[in-house]
Amino acid sequence: MREQQKIKTDSISFLPAGGEGGKRIAIFGSTGSIGTQALEVIAANPDKFSVEVLTANNNDDLLISQALRFNPNVVVIGDEKKYSKVKEALSSTDVKVFTGEKSLEEAAAMDCYDLMLAAIVGYAGLKPTLKAISNGKTIALANKETLVIAGDIMMRKAVENRVPVIPVDSEHSAIFQCLIGETRNRIEKIILTASGGPFLGRKPNYLLNVKREHALQHPNWTMGAKITIDSATLMNKGLEMIEAKWLFNLKPEQVQVVIHPQSIIHSMVQFEDGSIKAQMGLPDMKLPIQYALTFPKRIKNDYPRFDFKKVSTLTFEEPDVKTFRNLVLAREALYKGGNLPCVMNAANEIAVYAFLRNRINFLDMTDAIEKTMQRVPFIEKPTLEEYFESDGEARNFAADIIKL
Ligand code: NAD
Ligand code: MG
Repeated sequence: MREQQKIKTDSISFLPAGGEGGKRIAIFGSTGSIGTQALEVIAANPDKFSVEVLTANNNDDLLISQALRFNPNVVVIGDEKKYSKVKEALSSTDVKVFTGEKSLEEAAAMDCYDLMLAAIVGYAGLKPTLKAISNGKTIALANKETLVIAGDIMMRKAVENRVPVIPVDSEHSAIFQCLIGETRNRIEKIILTASGGPFLGRKPNYLLNVKREHALQHPNWTMGAKITIDSATLMNKGLEMIEAKWLFNLKPEQVQVVIHPQSIIHSMVQFEDGSIKAQMGLPDMKLPIQYALTFPKRIKNDYPRFDFKKVSTLTFEEPDVKTFRNLVLAREALYKGGNLPCVMNAANEIAVYAFLRNRINFLDMTDAIEKTMQRVPFIEKPTLEEYFESDGEARNFAADIIKL
């Protein structure tokens, strides 16, 4: 059993304290579900934070209104066609406006912020996040795909640059919180809880016919479209197993998944004496977002509290891996490592994209991912360049299989 990640206590000493005007925040992906909730947290605590960077892919109207409200140093609009509209709308302000993919990295390389909230979805978030790490900025990580693609390189760079990577994903935030004060103690295993998504208990013959609209109805969480589909297919939990391995320096066999439909226990850590610590609360992403932004402090809020009198039963069950085969594929990627998680992630991004556009059915997603994982050549210790190439290759294979 290996020593757990040292970052928990070390990071406390080198986290930016947030001087006058508060901690300076860069939100990459500010128009998404995580990004907008982070801005709610910040708006409720104006003395603790300032907003310095906001980025969006194509939601120009929301980016403009966020910029007018929070007055950042810089905004980046990904879609170059939207640049002049954003520039024009902000012409009476001091906000600098940039566009295009490269600008995301340039914004990440700036000095005007202390902490990057990495809330872009998917592969697109990888390069800016790596840039922020090289730039010595604290990362509050929502974008789990970055760790799935290149977790070894990201965490190595984080250690080299003494950069704390603070999880935002609720399960990983839960584990992170359970580990506070436990740096000398060994983890036997972590137990990731999964709601089971909207199709918990369903079998393949039902799943064959589910449509995008069904899959987008998550019972407990309101999230962006991609992660909502990932939750319905259980790929989200698969990605989270790999995310946990890198964040907490675990061996694959130390990562367990249990279905917990109420989403009250956000995850657990079992130590070598058999004792289990859990972190609990209502399912509300503002909690882990706030914790990542204020860590190591907790600050008061008035979000609804969990009431034991109202929910008297918390239940747990084994995941149905025969039906939700993505979990088997993700476990294979977790164990085998190398470029396989990266390939799986790329194929999944293409498959989810196709499903969201009604191009393939629900079960085809897993088939496309499995075939892509079999076809892209395995690389045991990829360089960053090889991860980029594997990602591209996997996207091409998956698109080919799906006939996109
Ligand atoms: P979302 O789709 O709601 O928002 C994504 C954001 O990324 C938007 O601001 C969008 O403009 C930006 N973006 C998308 N594609 C881009 C591109 N190619 N280039 C630049 N920017 C781009 O997604 P979300 O639900 O907020 O999720 C964001 C990340 O956080 C994902 O990795 C997800 O897995 C993770 N996460 C989300 C939740 C949640 O509750 N939503 C919970 C845990 C983890
Ligand atoms: Mg999660």
